[in-house]
Amino acid sequence: MAKHFLKVTCKDCGSEATIYSRATTTVACSVCGATLSIPSGGKANLVGCTVVEALE
Ligand SMILES: [Zn+2]
Repeated sequence: MAKHFLKVTCKDCGSEATIYSRATTTVACSVCGATLSIPSGGKANLVGCTVVEALE
């Protein structure tokens, strides 16, 4: 089953965020403003965060 949401932690400040795995916009950390994910070919490309777990 495809996982649609990813729980991630920001590499800069360690705060948790939930990112849609097919996000089509750049996602920034709500705490420090670091870029967490950029869109790439219909999928989110995680650039500034580490995946904690995939959510249904
Ligand atoms: Zn952050």
